[in-house]
Amino acid sequence: MHEPTWKDHLHDRMPPDLAHEIDLFEGQMALMRQGKLDEKVFAETRLRRGVYGQRYDNGQRHDGLRTQTLDFPQDLVKGPNTLWDAPGMQRIKIPFGGLTPEQMEVLAQVADAYADGILHVTTRQDFQLHYVHIEDTPDLMRRLAAVGITTHEACGNVVRNVTACPLAGVCHTEAFDVTPYAHAMARFLLGHPDAQDFGRKFKVAFSGCAHTACGLVMMHDLGLLARTRPDPDGGPPRRGFAVYVGGGLGAVPEQAKLLSDFVPEEEILPLAQAIARVFARHGEKKNRNRARIKFLVAQLGIEAFRRLVEEERQVLPPDDRWTAYLEAVPGATEEPHRPPLLLDGDDRPDGFDAWYATNVYHQRQPGYCVATIHLPLGDLTARQMIALADLARRYAGGHVRTTVEQNIVFRWVAEADLPALYRDLKALGLGEPGAGTIVDITACPGTDTCKLGIASSRGLAGELITRLTARRATLPEPVRNLRIKVSGCFNSCGQHHVADIGFFGNSRKSGNYRVPYFQVVLGGQWQHNAGQYGMAIGSVPARLIPDVVDTLTTRYVEDHTPGESFQDWVKRLGKAGARELIRPFMITPVYEEQPAFFSDWGDPRVFTLGDLGVGECAGEVVSLFAMEISKAESELFEAQEALDRGDFARADARAYQAMLMAARALVRTEYLDVGEDPDRIVEAFRARFYDTERFFDPFARGKFARYLFSRHEHPPARVDEDAARRIVDEAQLFIEATHACEMRMSEEAARKAEEARRQAARNEPRREVLLPPGFAS
Ligand code: SF4
Repeated sequence: MHEPTWKDHLHDRMPPDLAHEIDLFEGQMALMRQGKLDEKVFAETRLRRGVYGQRYDNGQRHDGLRTQTLDFPQDLVKGPNTLWDAPGMQRIKIPFGGLTPEQMEVLAQVADAYADGILHVTTRQDFQLHYVHIEDTPDLMRRLAAVGITTHEACGNVVRNVTACPLAGVCHTEAFDVTPYAHAMARFLLGHPDAQDFGRKFKVAFSGCAHTACGLVMMHDLGLLARTRPDPDGGPPRRGFAVYVGGGLGAVPEQAKLLSDFVPEEEILPLAQAIARVFARHGEKKNRNRARIKFLVAQLGIEAFRRLVEEERQVLPPDDRWTAYLEAVPGATEEPHRPPLLLDGDDRPDGFDAWYATNVYHQRQPGYCVATIHLPLGDLTARQMIALADLARRYAGGHVRTTVEQNIVFRWVAEADLPALYRDLKALGLGEPGAGTIVDITACPGTDTCKLGIASSRGLAGELITRLTARRATLPEPVRNLRIKVSGCFNSCGQHHVADIGFFGNSRKSGNYRVPYFQVVLGGQWQHNAGQYGMAIGSVPARLIPDVVDTLTTRYVEDHTPGESFQDWVKRLGKAGARELIRPFMITPVYEEQPAFFSDWGDPRVFTLGDLGVGECAGEVVSLFAMEISKAESELFEAQEALDRGDFARADARAYQAMLMAARALVRTEYLDVGEDPDRIVEAFRARFYDTERFFDPFARGKFARYLFSRHEHPPARVDEDAARRIVDEAQLFIEATHACEMRMSEEAARKAEEARRQAARNEPRREVLLPPGFAS
């Protein structure tokens, strides 16, 4: 009798598709352990489940002169070359940031059980847990799946978390509540076969309006902005979306382009599917630096891109899911748990007024508010999360969302409850005012845990928060609500391009040392859907950045004309004028004179890039076949396990499924749309690979393919041990033969490509060779 596992305990509480996904992943981990799975394929596999390698101090810090070995437990730390099984980071998707109290409790429990007890809210409304051991991830995922949360496709070259305004449904300026649409989009694209073969990640966002919007549509691969149109038949206004494509931040930020100014609500899912197919077919796959959809849109031009999308849309096979969710949209509104009682004004706990001024938004629905829980650096402890879940039930009817500014909001709080809520938050250490103001600084993980981080974004943000918070009461009004955002490198995870004052980490050399620097980026716009990106004006040693912030804010207060926004002021100054302001700080320090400059914020050691690693943000580009055949192998692994347990019927079913998956992987190398239907898969496999003898090897000929045909056409009425063992062995041989077939095809394609290249070279006209007089040609 074995101890019940989380898998046993939760088997009837997990959605079957999520449970199956986790089993597959566990199977792939086992194959990896046995050395039977290629490391690159496994890396992409784990990334697609949100399981990242994480940066550590690897005990080897370069002190500027030589590498010093620090006292660090060697069995825990892995440095830049993180091993597949090192403790790492787990990213958890929270579509549109929507959370229930039960989900909050389970998130807290897994943070406590498997991580360092800290939950970190990201700039995509996800959660991240750090210091998680990969062996724990399947159970962590199961516990989340049992409350409807998945980590599937939290990373990798797939559709990432779908984000939306945290005020959706309660906002004054929205056209309508985008929540059910964001939810439907997230569900529809999760694991969708047309969204599995991208060269890079794909980010989707929804916004409720164009003007004050916080959905950041313009910086997304696909952005949908709610709009209505009058109904020609005089009915209620028609709902739809303006659709934008090809936006993005990163090293080269791009504003999204308008694909269509009105797509009716029933068309948004098929349109997203058609866009995914165009991206999968035409997007760059080899050079990951040019593989985001923004490069494809730029290369083709928006007109040609639109034509391709329209053509794809025309040939999509109909799918009930495109519109099935719409029936429920009118009723998909949140319900308050209390009547809309108004604040009476007498109960004003100490500090309440400051918190009320910055952290409370009055909903469209009179008497209700959104209260923002300001999380410095986006972090909260598991204990705080458990307590927050309780407060969410008591004050918000359980309506909670994360925000892209790394906070948590409670919605539907009755105004009269605000003082009591504030008191309770304060007791938890979560009653900080300043949400959405200059002290609410966004920062990516940077050098703390990200392998690509160059400078300490969290260290700098922490220092700025401390300094600005100390002066909060006396900060001049024009600068109080400026936004500051910090990224640890040019990749922009801290979204510095859309801050009034943004920074991204880099470094400079001084003598034998490296110095942490930050590039200063001014005049970006967070509102208006990330309507404008900032301008880089120069790099400053990290230690001087707080002085830069003081100088810029002081000069803005002194110089700006009445009503002139920070962005307009920066524009008026121009790059040269803005650079002049920070020039006194653009120095190269000398170690012997200013040693403090040679360590980063929050890290007293001498700065080094010695532990900089290889990024995991997107993983390697692994072929679709490699990904799909690895899933078939995990399925077979499950079959073997079932056989060992004596569950023969299950072993048979899984072995058959593994053969189908392998056949499908092969078929999809040339016929992407084969679908999931076993009859279609077998038929396509037979026509393309068996009848043509391409699957045949010189010795066994078509024998292994016949294992699949036989099991497909004659499912056994009863499976005994012998039969189960036989089909597991047959499935193994079939998968091996599939690998061999794909390899032959790839080699053949490479040979033909080389031949074509040579032929083209032969056909090229010979170049005239100019020789000096007297030389024969
Ligand atoms: S911006 Fe750079 S340092 Fe920050 S999380 Fe992204 S890749 Fe890492």
